[in-house]
Amino acid sequence: MQHNNKDVSKETKSVWAGEKDYLVHGATQVPVVHSVSYGYDDIDEWFEVAIGKRKGHIYGRNTNPTVEAFEEKVRILEGAKSATSFSTGMAAISNSLLTVLKPGDRVVTIKDTYGGTNKIFSEFLPRLNIDVYCCDTTNHEQIKQEIAKGCTLLYLESPTNPTVKITDIEQLAKEAHKVGALVFVDNTFATPLLQNPLELGADLVIHSATKFLGGHADALGGIVCSNDRDLVEKIYHYREINGATLDPMAAYLLLRGMKTLHLRINQQCESAMKIARFLQAQDVVEEVFYPGLETHVNHHIAKKQMKQFGGMLSFAVKGGIDSVREFLPKLKLANRAANLGAVETTVGPARTTSHVECTPEERAALGIPEGLVRYSVGIENCDDLIDDLKQAFRYITDKE
Ligand SMILES: *Cc1c(COP(=O)(O)O)cnc(C)c1O
Repeated sequence: MQHNNKDVSKETKSVWAGEKDYLVHGATQVPVVHSVSYGYDDIDEWFEVAIGKRKGHIYGRNTNPTVEAFEEKVRILEGAKSATSFSTGMAAISNSLLTVLKPGDRVVTIKDTYGGTNKIFSEFLPRLNIDVYCCDTTNHEQIKQEIAKGCTLLYLESPTNPTVKITDIEQLAKEAHKVGALVFVDNTFATPLLQNPLELGADLVIHSATKFLGGHADALGGIVCSNDRDLVEKIYHYREINGATLDPMAAYLLLRGMKTLHLRINQQCESAMKIARFLQAQDVVEEVFYPGLETHVNHHIAKKQMKQFGGMLSFAVKGGIDSVREFLPKLKLANRAANLGAVETTVGPARTTSHVECTPEERAALGIPEGLVRYSVGIENCDDLIDDLKQAFRYITDKE
């Protein structure tokens, strides 16, 4: 089977792609290679592998066969020429940023990036004399104006965490390239099956593999893909020396999880749409955020750049955090935890999950109500999830 064949669908690729070269002894599954180092009796061969003239592995911080198989699968799904992986999603983000940025550079980004990413922008980069401008996420005119002032990097995330805002990747990438800036996009919420930022003009696509790619909340990892081999090579080199390497066991779990990515995502998207509509019809619910809803501010952009609208939604209940305290513990079919994209439904208030590092004032400035609940739809039967929400909402006492 030709796994790179364009005629083969992404669904089939998530099952087969990237694995063939890593199978040994007739095994049908990629082995977990725990070995830290790789031995060579022939000194010349060792030298050639070490300088990259010949394929092979030297030391586990640099490369590993299990890790490579995982990188290959994601690379093929993103339709990219090159990919490199990391110990976590945050390592993917920080290593990529620090590879391309230097003192005096300017970054244009959005206010709604993932909480950890936001910390890098507000705390770590300014320390290195790198200027970061955070635009209103859905204000495309403002983002364009800031890009036009000149920047080294445009950093986007779409949909965002936790209010699932959407930015027009194609339109903004075009503007960034006019001023010679690189474009990085965090594609964690969409996955390669729903959105391909490289096709929309991005130079680098970033994933926290911990979330939907792995899908089982049992392994941390991150990955970046690009059609610019030199860019990935530079990022790989930074990561190799910096030491934020993906563990082979985690790589195996992520690889295994990805075989069912299409099944999970399809179920999660379908259920998220139904649950969003259910929530909209509830008296206790003040506001529902889901890009699939026609009422979502950037529904038209989501429709243009995504195949489906994803498995993440959020909603605010009347009565704020007091109401959240009442109903959230009553949910029976949800983990109350700081994770998302798993097979089990996972819920949490934004103030204890994605934006726990922010002050209430900072959250308010980001448009995150204190009573906002992030709801990552799992693969359970959708009617069961709706019934579960219904029974939990009965515990919200009348606050009128
Ligand atoms: C979780 C997440 C990250 C960070 O990934 P880790 O694997 O937890 O380090 C980055 N971006 C987004 C959008 C995320 O949801």
